[in-house]
Amino acid sequence: MRLSGKKAVVTGSGRGIGRAIALKLAQEGADVIAADINAENVRKVAEEIKKLGVKGIALKVDVSKKEGAEKIFKTIKEEFGRLDVLVNNAGINRDAMLHKMTDDEWNQVLAINLTGVFFCTRAAAKIMRDQRYGRIINISSASWLGNIGQANYSASKAGVLGLSRTAARELARKGITVNVICPGFIDTEMTRAVPERIKEIILSRIPTRRIGKPEEVANVVAFLASDEASYVTGAIIDVGGGMVL
Ligand code: NAP
Repeated sequence: MRLSGKKAVVTGSGRGIGRAIALKLAQEGADVIAADINAENVRKVAEEIKKLGVKGIALKVDVSKKEGAEKIFKTIKEEFGRLDVLVNNAGINRDAMLHKMTDDEWNQVLAINLTGVFFCTRAAAKIMRDQRYGRIINISSASWLGNIGQANYSASKAGVLGLSRTAARELARKGITVNVICPGFIDTEMTRAVPERIKEIILSRIPTRRIGKPEEVANVVAFLASDEASYVTGAIIDVGGGMVL
């Protein structure tokens, strides 16, 4: 129960990695707002959170819209009165080779994966600065290093690093840490859509020779959210079985 009494928000928590993070934070004792664009999925996750004996609130939001992001923080103020942990996890991919990538594919990915993180981080920073305490954890990707067919996704995830490192520097004196997790290849619906042939190539490049579980990302989030990580800020942590080595 490392997060007993803490108040947390996890975006994109209707399924996959975000769901695992929301449940892990709840297992550690945090009250959690599960925010996602999919109302039905997030409603089910909030029910699972409540079964763990903490408060769970489902919120349908689109983080790429300023009003959506602000709704999260209005709710947090009304329901919890404070915010200890923000996990910016919501993300999408719209893969295409650069010469075939449409404006929409570029804009959608940047709007959710990068601008959404900016909207939520800015709103959270306002609350956390006043409290002089906070933990912001941003989910980037090993793809920030560059990946064929992912110019939009890679640019958005590299952008998350720049945003996070800047926020870490700006907010450190206010008792707020900002860290980034870069998952490698994790078993979720996002990666289940990858063709089998490509999956085999990716697997052959992972030293641990297996796909990661969402819970293995969630465990690292829980550490960064806890007081055990009080001296960790601006860090970029790979959770990918050695994929980037
Ligand atoms: P996922 O299974 O597709 O889940 C993403 C969740 O975010 C879904 O519930 C989705 O809702 C929601 N979402 C999408 N757009 C949103 C928006 N505008 N506002 C709020 N919520 C929104 O993906 P995942 O694999 O769990 O990935 C989670 C994060 O980890 C993403 O940032 C992803 O880029 C990153 N990541 C994943 C991997 C991997 O191997 N899986 C690797 C590296 C990084 P819908 O169900 O309606 O789409």
